[in-house]
Amino acid sequence: MVAKLGIKELRKGLLKGEFTVREIVESYFERIERLNPRINAFITVSRDMAIEQALKFDENPHSIREKPLGGVPIAIKDCLCTQGIKTTCGSKILQNFVPPYDATCVKRLKEAGAIIVGKTNMDEFAMGSSTEHSAFGPTRNPWDIERVPGGSSGGSAAAVASGMVPVALGTDTGGSIRQPASFCGIVGLKPTYGRVSRYGLVAFASSLDQVGPMGKRVDDVAMLLQIIAGRDDFDATSVSIAVDKYCDNLNDRINDMVIGIPKEYFSHKIDPEIQQAIEEAIGIFESIGVKTVQVSLPHTDYGVAAYYIIAPAEASSNLERYDGVKYGLRSNPDKADLTEMYLKTRAEGFGPEVKRRIMLGTYVLSAGYYEAYYKKASQVRALIKQDFDLAFKKCDALITPVTPSPPFKIGEKVDDPLEMYLNDIFTLPASLAGVPGISIPYKLNSSGIPVGFQLIGPHFQESTLLKLAKAFHREIEYNPEIPEL
Ligand code: GLN
Repeated sequence: MVAKLGIKELRKGLLKGEFTVREIVESYFERIERLNPRINAFITVSRDMAIEQALKFDENPHSIREKPLGGVPIAIKDCLCTQGIKTTCGSKILQNFVPPYDATCVKRLKEAGAIIVGKTNMDEFAMGSSTEHSAFGPTRNPWDIERVPGGSSGGSAAAVASGMVPVALGTDTGGSIRQPASFCGIVGLKPTYGRVSRYGLVAFASSLDQVGPMGKRVDDVAMLLQIIAGRDDFDATSVSIAVDKYCDNLNDRINDMVIGIPKEYFSHKIDPEIQQAIEEAIGIFESIGVKTVQVSLPHTDYGVAAYYIIAPAEASSNLERYDGVKYGLRSNPDKADLTEMYLKTRAEGFGPEVKRRIMLGTYVLSAGYYEAYYKKASQVRALIKQDFDLAFKKCDALITPVTPSPPFKIGEKVDDPLEMYLNDIFTLPASLAGVPGISIPYKLNSSGIPVGFQLIGPHFQESTLLKLAKAFHREIEYNPEIPEL
């Protein structure tokens, strides 16, 4: 059964010759064929390319050993450019876009030997928290197909959770890796802003977007991060700070660490089972020698307001490029007029949430409002960052909920944007501050739906988060389950 395998087990089996790369890749495709019609986690499946790559490995088994991810299947969120494979960003406006190049993170994964099996579903242009805003239909939560998998990386989360692929890449602008990981019961890490290159990532909000790994186990996530992290000359915001040895350090001692409990994250109405799970997690950390301390991040509550000004502002500017000329869809106007063509292309190509964001963003940036909205939001952002800086003087990481409530029903929030936005309350502050966050699955709630928690760390301390996550899973003898489908 391939569904449960992680990178380590896969590699072990391949190196021992228990199965060939082709056999492994074929078994994942069988699962995709069987489950994807119900889950809709994939927009595109790149079978021929994957098999071709698998055969190359099998012809020369030596090459499996030489590459750290030799023969490991992976799924890529559909906002990351993949040479020769359609990259739609969940939008009709890019429905036929085939990039002529690979995003840097994709290129690094390929060079490490990973095999791309397909591109995963997402909210259009990564705008959303449920993967319902996709031009290709919603993805369903494999634990309960009436519920959302979270978003915007809901396709990647659902694909990993249901065992259609061992690992995947997602992107996180305001929670889009951490929230779907939590809803689907897998591990998802949003790295520090600047840790992973954004080159080849279709831009949503450039000062917030980050690429990150998703997997069933902490080890898998550490391994992917090791490959994709690090300076890239094609992204001026990627930093040249040395990349830690995430995998080698994973089992380091953590019993001199301090976890902060930020009171603002617990003063809201939180689902009682989520609250209970976090209290238990705190107890488990304490039982393995981690100290805890109460901390305060007083500007937490302003995160939603600041984010939903800054992100749409950047989006409205980034999405100007979809004009029917340079990329993707071009609608035929009723009369031969350039403006008509622009308008019709954008009216037909973008979905309602994207249009809402473009309007919001254009409004907050317009002359006369810029000072009142965008500038104010940027100042609030600085205060939120300062909150984290001060908190991290007292602790190594913060423990918080990922969301106030468990996965909601498909259709429940889709017509109420504010309700949808409020779901991001606990993930947005780390995004605004640029600090890393990890979503850690813990157990199933009384309805059989995953619950977990978030750890947030100081800039470039991914390795602290991974060590703590690993220690927690080791202590509870965590063994990822696959939902019955
Ligand atoms: N849910 C948030 C939004 O809609 C975050 C999305 C993301 O992280 N890409 O903007």
